[in-house]
Amino acid sequence: MFPSIGEKRPKMPVFTVEECPNCGTKTKRAFKIGDYVYKDGGECPKCHSKTVVSMIYAELVQVK
Ligand SMILES: [Zn+2]
Repeated sequence: MFPSIGEKRPKMPVFTVEECPNCGTKTKRAFKIGDYVYKDGGECPKCHSKTVVSMIYAELVQVK
């Protein structure tokens, strides 16, 4: 990856939501390369079941 000089892109932080199929807890975290919907997620903080990635989305941030 090279840094592109002079390129100004709006900041679009991407988030991954992991959902626990057991208790329904949703955990939002920063997107990591390789994430995709229905991928196995981390451990549920409440019931320690395996979570599944349920949503990936970008949040538009206004750059001033
Ligand atoms: Zn759970």
